[in-house]
Amino acid sequence: MTCKSAFIYSDKFTNYQFANDHPFNQLRVKMTKELLDAEYLLNEADILTPKMANDEDLALVHDRQYIDAVKKAGNGKLTPEDGWEYGLGTEDTPMFPNMHEAAALLVGGTLTAVDAVLEGNNKHALNLGGGLHHGFKRKASGFCIYNDCAIAIKYIRQKYNLRILYVDTDAHHGDGVQSVFYDDPDVCTLSIHETGRYLFPGTGNVNERGLKKGYGYSFNLPVDAFTEDESFLEVYSSALREIAEYFRPDIIVTQNGADAHCYDPLTHLCSTMKTFETIPLLAHDVAHEYCEGRWIALGGGGYDIWRVVPRAWAQIWSIMHTGEIIKGDIPAVWKLKWEREAPCSLPPKWHDHPGIYKEIPRKAEITEKNVKVLTQALQYCRNYKTFSNIETKK
Ligand SMILES: [Zn+2]
Ligand SMILES: [Zn+2]
Repeated sequence: MTCKSAFIYSDKFTNYQFANDHPFNQLRVKMTKELLDAEYLLNEADILTPKMANDEDLALVHDRQYIDAVKKAGNGKLTPEDGWEYGLGTEDTPMFPNMHEAAALLVGGTLTAVDAVLEGNNKHALNLGGGLHHGFKRKASGFCIYNDCAIAIKYIRQKYNLRILYVDTDAHHGDGVQSVFYDDPDVCTLSIHETGRYLFPGTGNVNERGLKKGYGYSFNLPVDAFTEDESFLEVYSSALREIAEYFRPDIIVTQNGADAHCYDPLTHLCSTMKTFETIPLLAHDVAHEYCEGRWIALGGGGYDIWRVVPRAWAQIWSIMHTGEIIKGDIPAVWKLKWEREAPCSLPPKWHDHPGIYKEIPRKAEITEKNVKVLTQALQYCRNYKTFSNIETKK
């Protein structure tokens, strides 16, 4: 199936750079675009330039004082003490010149993606520059300054009044987005992530289910460290399908962090490319089944920018654009170019060889634990389904 889709891109995405040695590196977006070019999968007509988000847009989620602090930080006028209050100038989110403009462009890209689907004639849109799910109302956190995911969801609510399913497959909990919509029954959030027991941000427990009217609309699947493709996908696909059926969204917004891969230096999950091929295939199915195709996909984490992120993210576009994943060899021209810059050799194939990591001795135990987490996470929506079946029968 071919669906008209929009690819949001600007070389200026790389202006979002905390420091040369900082793990968050937007070069991965450029690498992904060039990989797609090398596969002849990107048409010039499908590429949209991101607009710049204005203060009104940012204020959909963030406090004005915080926005002013980010502007000041970018102009070298925020003191370390003031920065501390807003999470700016920390090891994770250091201050850098023009950080406001760089962060606002990523948000603008996500809003451009939203309008491309809801006003333009696109079924799907992809902004790999976005996905900054840890940004809070008045605090930067975990490499995220402005939370484009949450701003876009507020924007959709306000401008189009649709019900949104937000799906976050980054290895870290989507805490910022969850916090903004925790009491909102029109926005359902699902985050699958490595358990917060040993990993930032520490939240995303299975018992976090929402608040007040929003109770039953936040779902968390904290999987065990060393979870592999099979178990990750078993838990994730069951949850996504059941939650989509329960919530019946008008549109889905997915955050596609690629840091659950076994090569990722910041996390402890053991996914391979199999997971990153399946995640967008599932999202695509759900979008067509429930939302007439309306699907906004964003980037996110992903810290092996050489071996993992470009392959993982290119598959999202391939699925949007052709309905299928890319197979076979990585184009030689791309591999040669980037291998000159990379500190390691680059994978020769789109798909990963099953033997890329050592066997996990606790596999059975991990799988069993993850199934328990799934059961606990879906308890509420399964009870709800049983309850509404009884109601219908009456
Ligand atoms: Zn489609
Ligand atoms: Zn992450």
